[in-house]
Amino acid sequence: MASIFSKIIAGEIPCYKVAETNDFLAFLDINPNAKGHTLCIPKKEVDKLFDLDESTYDGLMKFSRTVAVAIEKAVPCKRVGMTVVGLEVPHAHVHLIPLNAMEDAQFIKKESLSSEDFETTAKAIASFL
Ligand code: AMP
Repeated sequence: MASIFSKIIAGEIPCYKVAETNDFLAFLDINPNAKGHTLCIPKKEVDKLFDLDESTYDGLMKFSRTVAVAIEKAVPCKRVGMTVVGLEVPHAHVHLIPLNAMEDAQFIKKESLSSEDFETTAKAIASFL
């Protein structure tokens, strides 16, 4: 069965898109640790990040770096952190999280955002790409 992220790629489920290439997609995490929390995924569905073929893995890291630089320009934060978990969605992804405090990296404090907040944030990040 296709992962929820493959359904997003196929356009069957909506997302707040930040960036897209032929091979990768970045969109806002729907349950963010902080405003601007973004997920970068390969369009190729593979469960675990380190099972990706080397070219897709390298491409995902390059794509994630580009998106992280844009997040840092668009969202006030001390820095952008990168985390890989994958316990919830079995489709390799990188979390890019604007950090102001250690709790922002810990997946315990969640930010409640309106759909307008999500839309504005996605557009703001995209404008720096
Ligand atoms: P994990 O697999 O543990 O790295 O966590 C998966 C992440 O995907 C969580 O932070 C969720 O909030 C996020 N997530 C799950 N479904 C969606 C969705 N439809 N749109 C955006 N983010 C999602």
